[in-house]
Amino acid sequence: MTDYLATLNEPQREGVLTTDGPCMLIAGAGSGKTRVLTYRIAHLIQQKGVDPFSIMALTFTNKAAKEMRERIEKVVGHDARNLWMGTFHSVFSRILRAEAHHLGYPHDFTIYDSDDSKSLIRTIVKEMGLDDTVYKVNTVYSRISAAKNRLISWEDYLRNAELMGDDAANLRPEIGKIYKTYAMRCFKSGAMDFDDLLFNTDKLFKEHLEVLNKYQHRIHYVLVDEFQDTNLCQYYIIRKLSSVKENVCVVGDDAQSIYAFRGADITNILNFERDYPDLKVIKLEQNYRSTQNIVQAANSVIKRNRAQLPKNVWTANEEGNLIELIKAVSDNEEGRLVATSIFQEKMQHQLKFSDFAILYRTNSQSRAIEEALRRMNIKYKVVGGLSFYQRKEIKDLLAYLRFTMNQQDEASFRRIINLPKRGIGDSTVDKIVVAANDHGTSIWEILQNATPFVGGRVAGPIDDFVAMIKRFTIEIQRKDAYDAAFEIAKGSGLLRELYEDKTVEGLSRYENVQELLNAIKEYVDDPERQDKTLGAFLQEVSLVTGQDEDKDKDPDKVTLMTIHMAKGLEFKYVYMVGMEEDLFPSQMMISSRAELEEERRLFYVAITRAEKRLFLSYALTRYRFGRLKNCEPSRFLDDIDQSFIKVSTKFSGLESAPPSDYAKKLVTGIKKTITSAPPAQKPTAYKAPADFVPSDTSSLKEGMKVEHPKFGFGTVLQMDMSGADRKAKINFTEIGEKTLLLSFAKLRIV
Ligand code: ATP
Ligand code: MG
Repeated sequence: MTDYLATLNEPQREGVLTTDGPCMLIAGAGSGKTRVLTYRIAHLIQQKGVDPFSIMALTFTNKAAKEMRERIEKVVGHDARNLWMGTFHSVFSRILRAEAHHLGYPHDFTIYDSDDSKSLIRTIVKEMGLDDTVYKVNTVYSRISAAKNRLISWEDYLRNAELMGDDAANLRPEIGKIYKTYAMRCFKSGAMDFDDLLFNTDKLFKEHLEVLNKYQHRIHYVLVDEFQDTNLCQYYIIRKLSSVKENVCVVGDDAQSIYAFRGADITNILNFERDYPDLKVIKLEQNYRSTQNIVQAANSVIKRNRAQLPKNVWTANEEGNLIELIKAVSDNEEGRLVATSIFQEKMQHQLKFSDFAILYRTNSQSRAIEEALRRMNIKYKVVGGLSFYQRKEIKDLLAYLRFTMNQQDEASFRRIINLPKRGIGDSTVDKIVVAANDHGTSIWEILQNATPFVGGRVAGPIDDFVAMIKRFTIEIQRKDAYDAAFEIAKGSGLLRELYEDKTVEGLSRYENVQELLNAIKEYVDDPERQDKTLGAFLQEVSLVTGQDEDKDKDPDKVTLMTIHMAKGLEFKYVYMVGMEEDLFPSQMMISSRAELEEERRLFYVAITRAEKRLFLSYALTRYRFGRLKNCEPSRFLDDIDQSFIKVSTKFSGLESAPPSDYAKKLVTGIKKTITSAPPAQKPTAYKAPADFVPSDTSSLKEGMKVEHPKFGFGTVLQMDMSGADRKAKINFTEIGEKTLLLSFAKLRIV
């Protein structure tokens, strides 16, 4: 296949053909930057006969690298396998493996993940006799990481404490020493952490010119995607590697720079022009991905940022539908509306589930969405993370709750006995389990009198643990499921440990645990639930989590992910959920104009992922910190030029909700009057027969009698046949009127 040049526009072709010399494409979303990089590599190999071993292409994620490789393979065949292609971390670890001896490392050095690094830091802080409430492990870890990403070695750090501002000088004067000890210990153990993979590559090239020279002559072409999100360390490495041949091509979009909080530095774009005076700058302005409405809506949003390179993105694609705004009463309803919309759009337009993506600002938001999708049997995958109930912190709290309910539960016991750390190691745990087996008794019996089995040293912490669990068992008898779960999260120390972790990951874990508590609160407040005990909740969760989606290899799934993960990707249909103040823009992130602008760029990234249709949704109420809160629609909704957006009529947000006074008040906008949960709906005395089977409702008419597995018996008052979604207004004997979508309602004509 050589006609790839024919599928490019003029400036794109120029980007592909200008193979030699420095080149930069800074262009809007969907304008074909990644496509240019891909074809450029194909062109180098196929037309210019360049050896794939001498081309290095750096991407932001492994997934992006894989996709690019597959596309290149389509043009050039198997040769594509020999490219140096991957994320910065993966490509540089390959170089480091070959050259480690220059830095005194073994070739098979270990790579520490963040847990390994943190446990080493914890040990060092302890050994140095420092207060671990001041030198919190996560704080120290992120300081060291930030230093490495800015190329500050421990020697620099110690020499120049001002480098790190207040921390080094006043608050935490010992961080430099911890950094030093940490670096030396890693070195002695033959281990590098993630940041070392970049930091040490830079060091290798700085201190061993012969090595740098070798790679400068081996790698003839360097290509970088998503250049706007590179940090200083990455920038220097690119510059060093390409300083002989200067065949370097970077592509990016300043409007999509969304990693400043991780040290990405947008000034790299400006520095590039300065560092390469012969730089060829190519502009791409035509968007090929999205409809006119989507492109123009995105333009109207990004225009509001001050710090932006001027661009005029346009498209020759069809005008397309307006962006649709979905308003929901609650987060659960938001999930339900989105799931319903996906289902209907898929049916109506014969799409695949994989054509759909649901994006959110923070990970914890996936819970309500996942539950709604599961209820409708829509398959999904959570990209770049685990599905909600698979996340460690969620499993941890659930294990506490389960063990409190049932002290025979060995798996939960093993999970929580030393969590947070209380000095009870694996060997102690084994002794307890063995003792229980030997004596034919339960773990709990042994725990209550542990000294003879485990020795006096750990007996103290075990006694404390037992006392704590006993306290919890009393809580669950006295309190409702939410209050009890909250006490357990707090009393166990789990919540505190997460709260104190101020890293981005820590924050996300804390939000997840809060979201689990919110789910319990919602469960307790749900008028349709009869059994509101913790046991009932846990049972429901087990049912939800029992289906193991990981083993399901079917690729046709809806994609769920954070906007950060969605960078560079595209989907026919995009649903951006949680468009509410405090959630998006995130409350934590907007203490300055620069941060607000970064959040807005994130919104720009979200909008520009959509090819055909974009839906934005928000909920009027949402549980946060265990309370039902009113939410304000996001200010970003006002950023969109209103001529490109309309309120969804199909999913006005209340059609499928009970037409209670509560819901009516919400739509008519008297939001402020609602301060608590909706008034409980009376539980019905009706019990569905075990053999209940819904019947075909295509012949349903006004006046007919029906039976619903939850709402009992009722009479059809009115039919609404307009549109694909037929609806029936039904008067149920026990609970009154409800309007149901017939494609989803389980009804039996009686
Ligand atoms: P982002 O900023 O989101 O990373 P991008 O600039 O990298 O976007 P691409 O992903 O390369 O854009 O391209 C967007 C879409 O447009 C892709 O589906 C791509 O195949 C298509 N495309 C790009 N250029 C052309 C073209 N000249 N003709 C047809 N389709 C094109
Ligand atoms: Mg791209």
